[in-house]
Amino acid sequence: MLRINRRFPLLQCLRHAHNQVRVRFAPSPTGHLHLGGLRTALYNFLYARHLGGKFLLRIEDTDQTRLVPGASERLVEDLLWAGIEIDEGPGFGGQLGPYVQSERKLIYSKAIDELLQNGTAYRCFCTERRLDLLRKEALRTRQVPRYDNKCRHLTEKEVDSLLVKGTPHCIRFKLTDHEEPLEDLIYGRVHHNVSDTEGDPVVMKSDQFPTYHFANVVDDHLMGITHVLRGVEWQISTTKHLLLYKAFGWQPPKFGHLPLLVNADGTKLSKRQGDIGIQNFRERGFFPQALVNYVVSAGGGFDHKANAKLQLLSMEELYEKFQIERVNSHPSRLNPELLEDFNRLELAQRLLGKESRLKLVKQVQELVKKTYPQHSNLDLAEDHIADVLNWSSQRLTLLQDLTSSKLSFLWVKPSDFQLKDLTAHQLNNMLKLLRSLEDFHKDKLNTELKNFAQRENIKFPQMMKTLRAALSGLKEGPGVAEMMEILGQTVTLERLQEALPKEKLPLKQNQ
Ligand code: GLU
Repeated sequence: MLRINRRFPLLQCLRHAHNQVRVRFAPSPTGHLHLGGLRTALYNFLYARHLGGKFLLRIEDTDQTRLVPGASERLVEDLLWAGIEIDEGPGFGGQLGPYVQSERKLIYSKAIDELLQNGTAYRCFCTERRLDLLRKEALRTRQVPRYDNKCRHLTEKEVDSLLVKGTPHCIRFKLTDHEEPLEDLIYGRVHHNVSDTEGDPVVMKSDQFPTYHFANVVDDHLMGITHVLRGVEWQISTTKHLLLYKAFGWQPPKFGHLPLLVNADGTKLSKRQGDIGIQNFRERGFFPQALVNYVVSAGGGFDHKANAKLQLLSMEELYEKFQIERVNSHPSRLNPELLEDFNRLELAQRLLGKESRLKLVKQVQELVKKTYPQHSNLDLAEDHIADVLNWSSQRLTLLQDLTSSKLSFLWVKPSDFQLKDLTAHQLNNMLKLLRSLEDFHKDKLNTELKNFAQRENIKFPQMMKTLRAALSGLKEGPGVAEMMEILGQTVTLERLQEALPKEKLPLKQNQ
């Protein structure tokens, strides 16, 4: 039976009048956002946007002992970085807040009163010592520890006298039998009668803080959540939550549980593995949309054609195409190679836009400066970087790869090298030749340089050695023609000009 909510008319209006989908991501601020968390947030976001609904962020910080300072701020930053927009949440507005659980204590205590009054919850005065004994006894007899519901049976008089004495107590919820199975949006029908295996759960601790189960249900209801998409590890809890909704007389949201996210070989991702933290992907230089496509590629939710060419989808394309019925219920395997492929696609895509290209150029400038702090003579001209980026988009995975030692010649200008082995005339001709080439591809360069050496009667290997030194200051390294191709025509000419001994100057553009 649906009870009309007189205390929250706004909520009634949201839920019934607009019939709008409202989902939430409800992390506990106990650490960094990792791939699993991103996946949950992302699927909620895609679902909401697909149906024109709202995405809420709620911070579940009732377990004060596990709080990590600054974790909420970092979580938000990572979500925004990934392109997930928060419609309501702490710092984002919304009419059904506060969106941080520790600021909602009064709401929970009112809700607890409601359950105490309608007899679906009770005060429990059992001491830690008694509970400990129960646990030990269960272990001794090889049973799963569970509370024996002792305080359910206290009389009103007994409760009153304990209260008068100020006896510390918590509030427990009376588990009842499930009459209806859970209709999971992803797993289908799930039968689990929670009262068969668990004792009555604590809903409010003696420190007046609600437990996760209680606060989660109260908030999902009061925030007008229509669909809950969360990790499958919460599926058992959902059966408990359904009983709580029933006790309040509230209509529960629809639930969908997302399968485990696992490594390519099926092994579990460990939350402790620093390398699955979103910060870590960011620091390593992965792009957000590449990471989002990677996560989605593991979990499904899309009409996927076998052998289709890999495509990097924008967030809009993703939410337009998203179909919850297509989310897999078997474990989602992550294939790290795909992440690299997606990143290359995103790099190429970013090079196409003027603004995004400029942003990349700036990023590279920063990276290079950080990599070579002691060099004042770095080649950081915008055009040069843009050329290098164009070359790299087919070959490299990360911007960071551009600062590998093999490519140091791109940035560090050779110093004090002089092209003494060639005569002024030869140098002049070589510059003329290089300036005249329209195709600066390594094969073409190689042929042209070979022909040049023959014409000028210079030993080819010796000439290439000299050129390499002039271009990079290196004795060894990539082939000279390749180096020229990567450096591009302008920088190649610039560097050769700079290596000209003063007496062999001047050389004008039109010579
Ligand atoms: N606070 C829970 C978590 O940290 C939320 C679970 C849920 O979505 O209900 O994952």
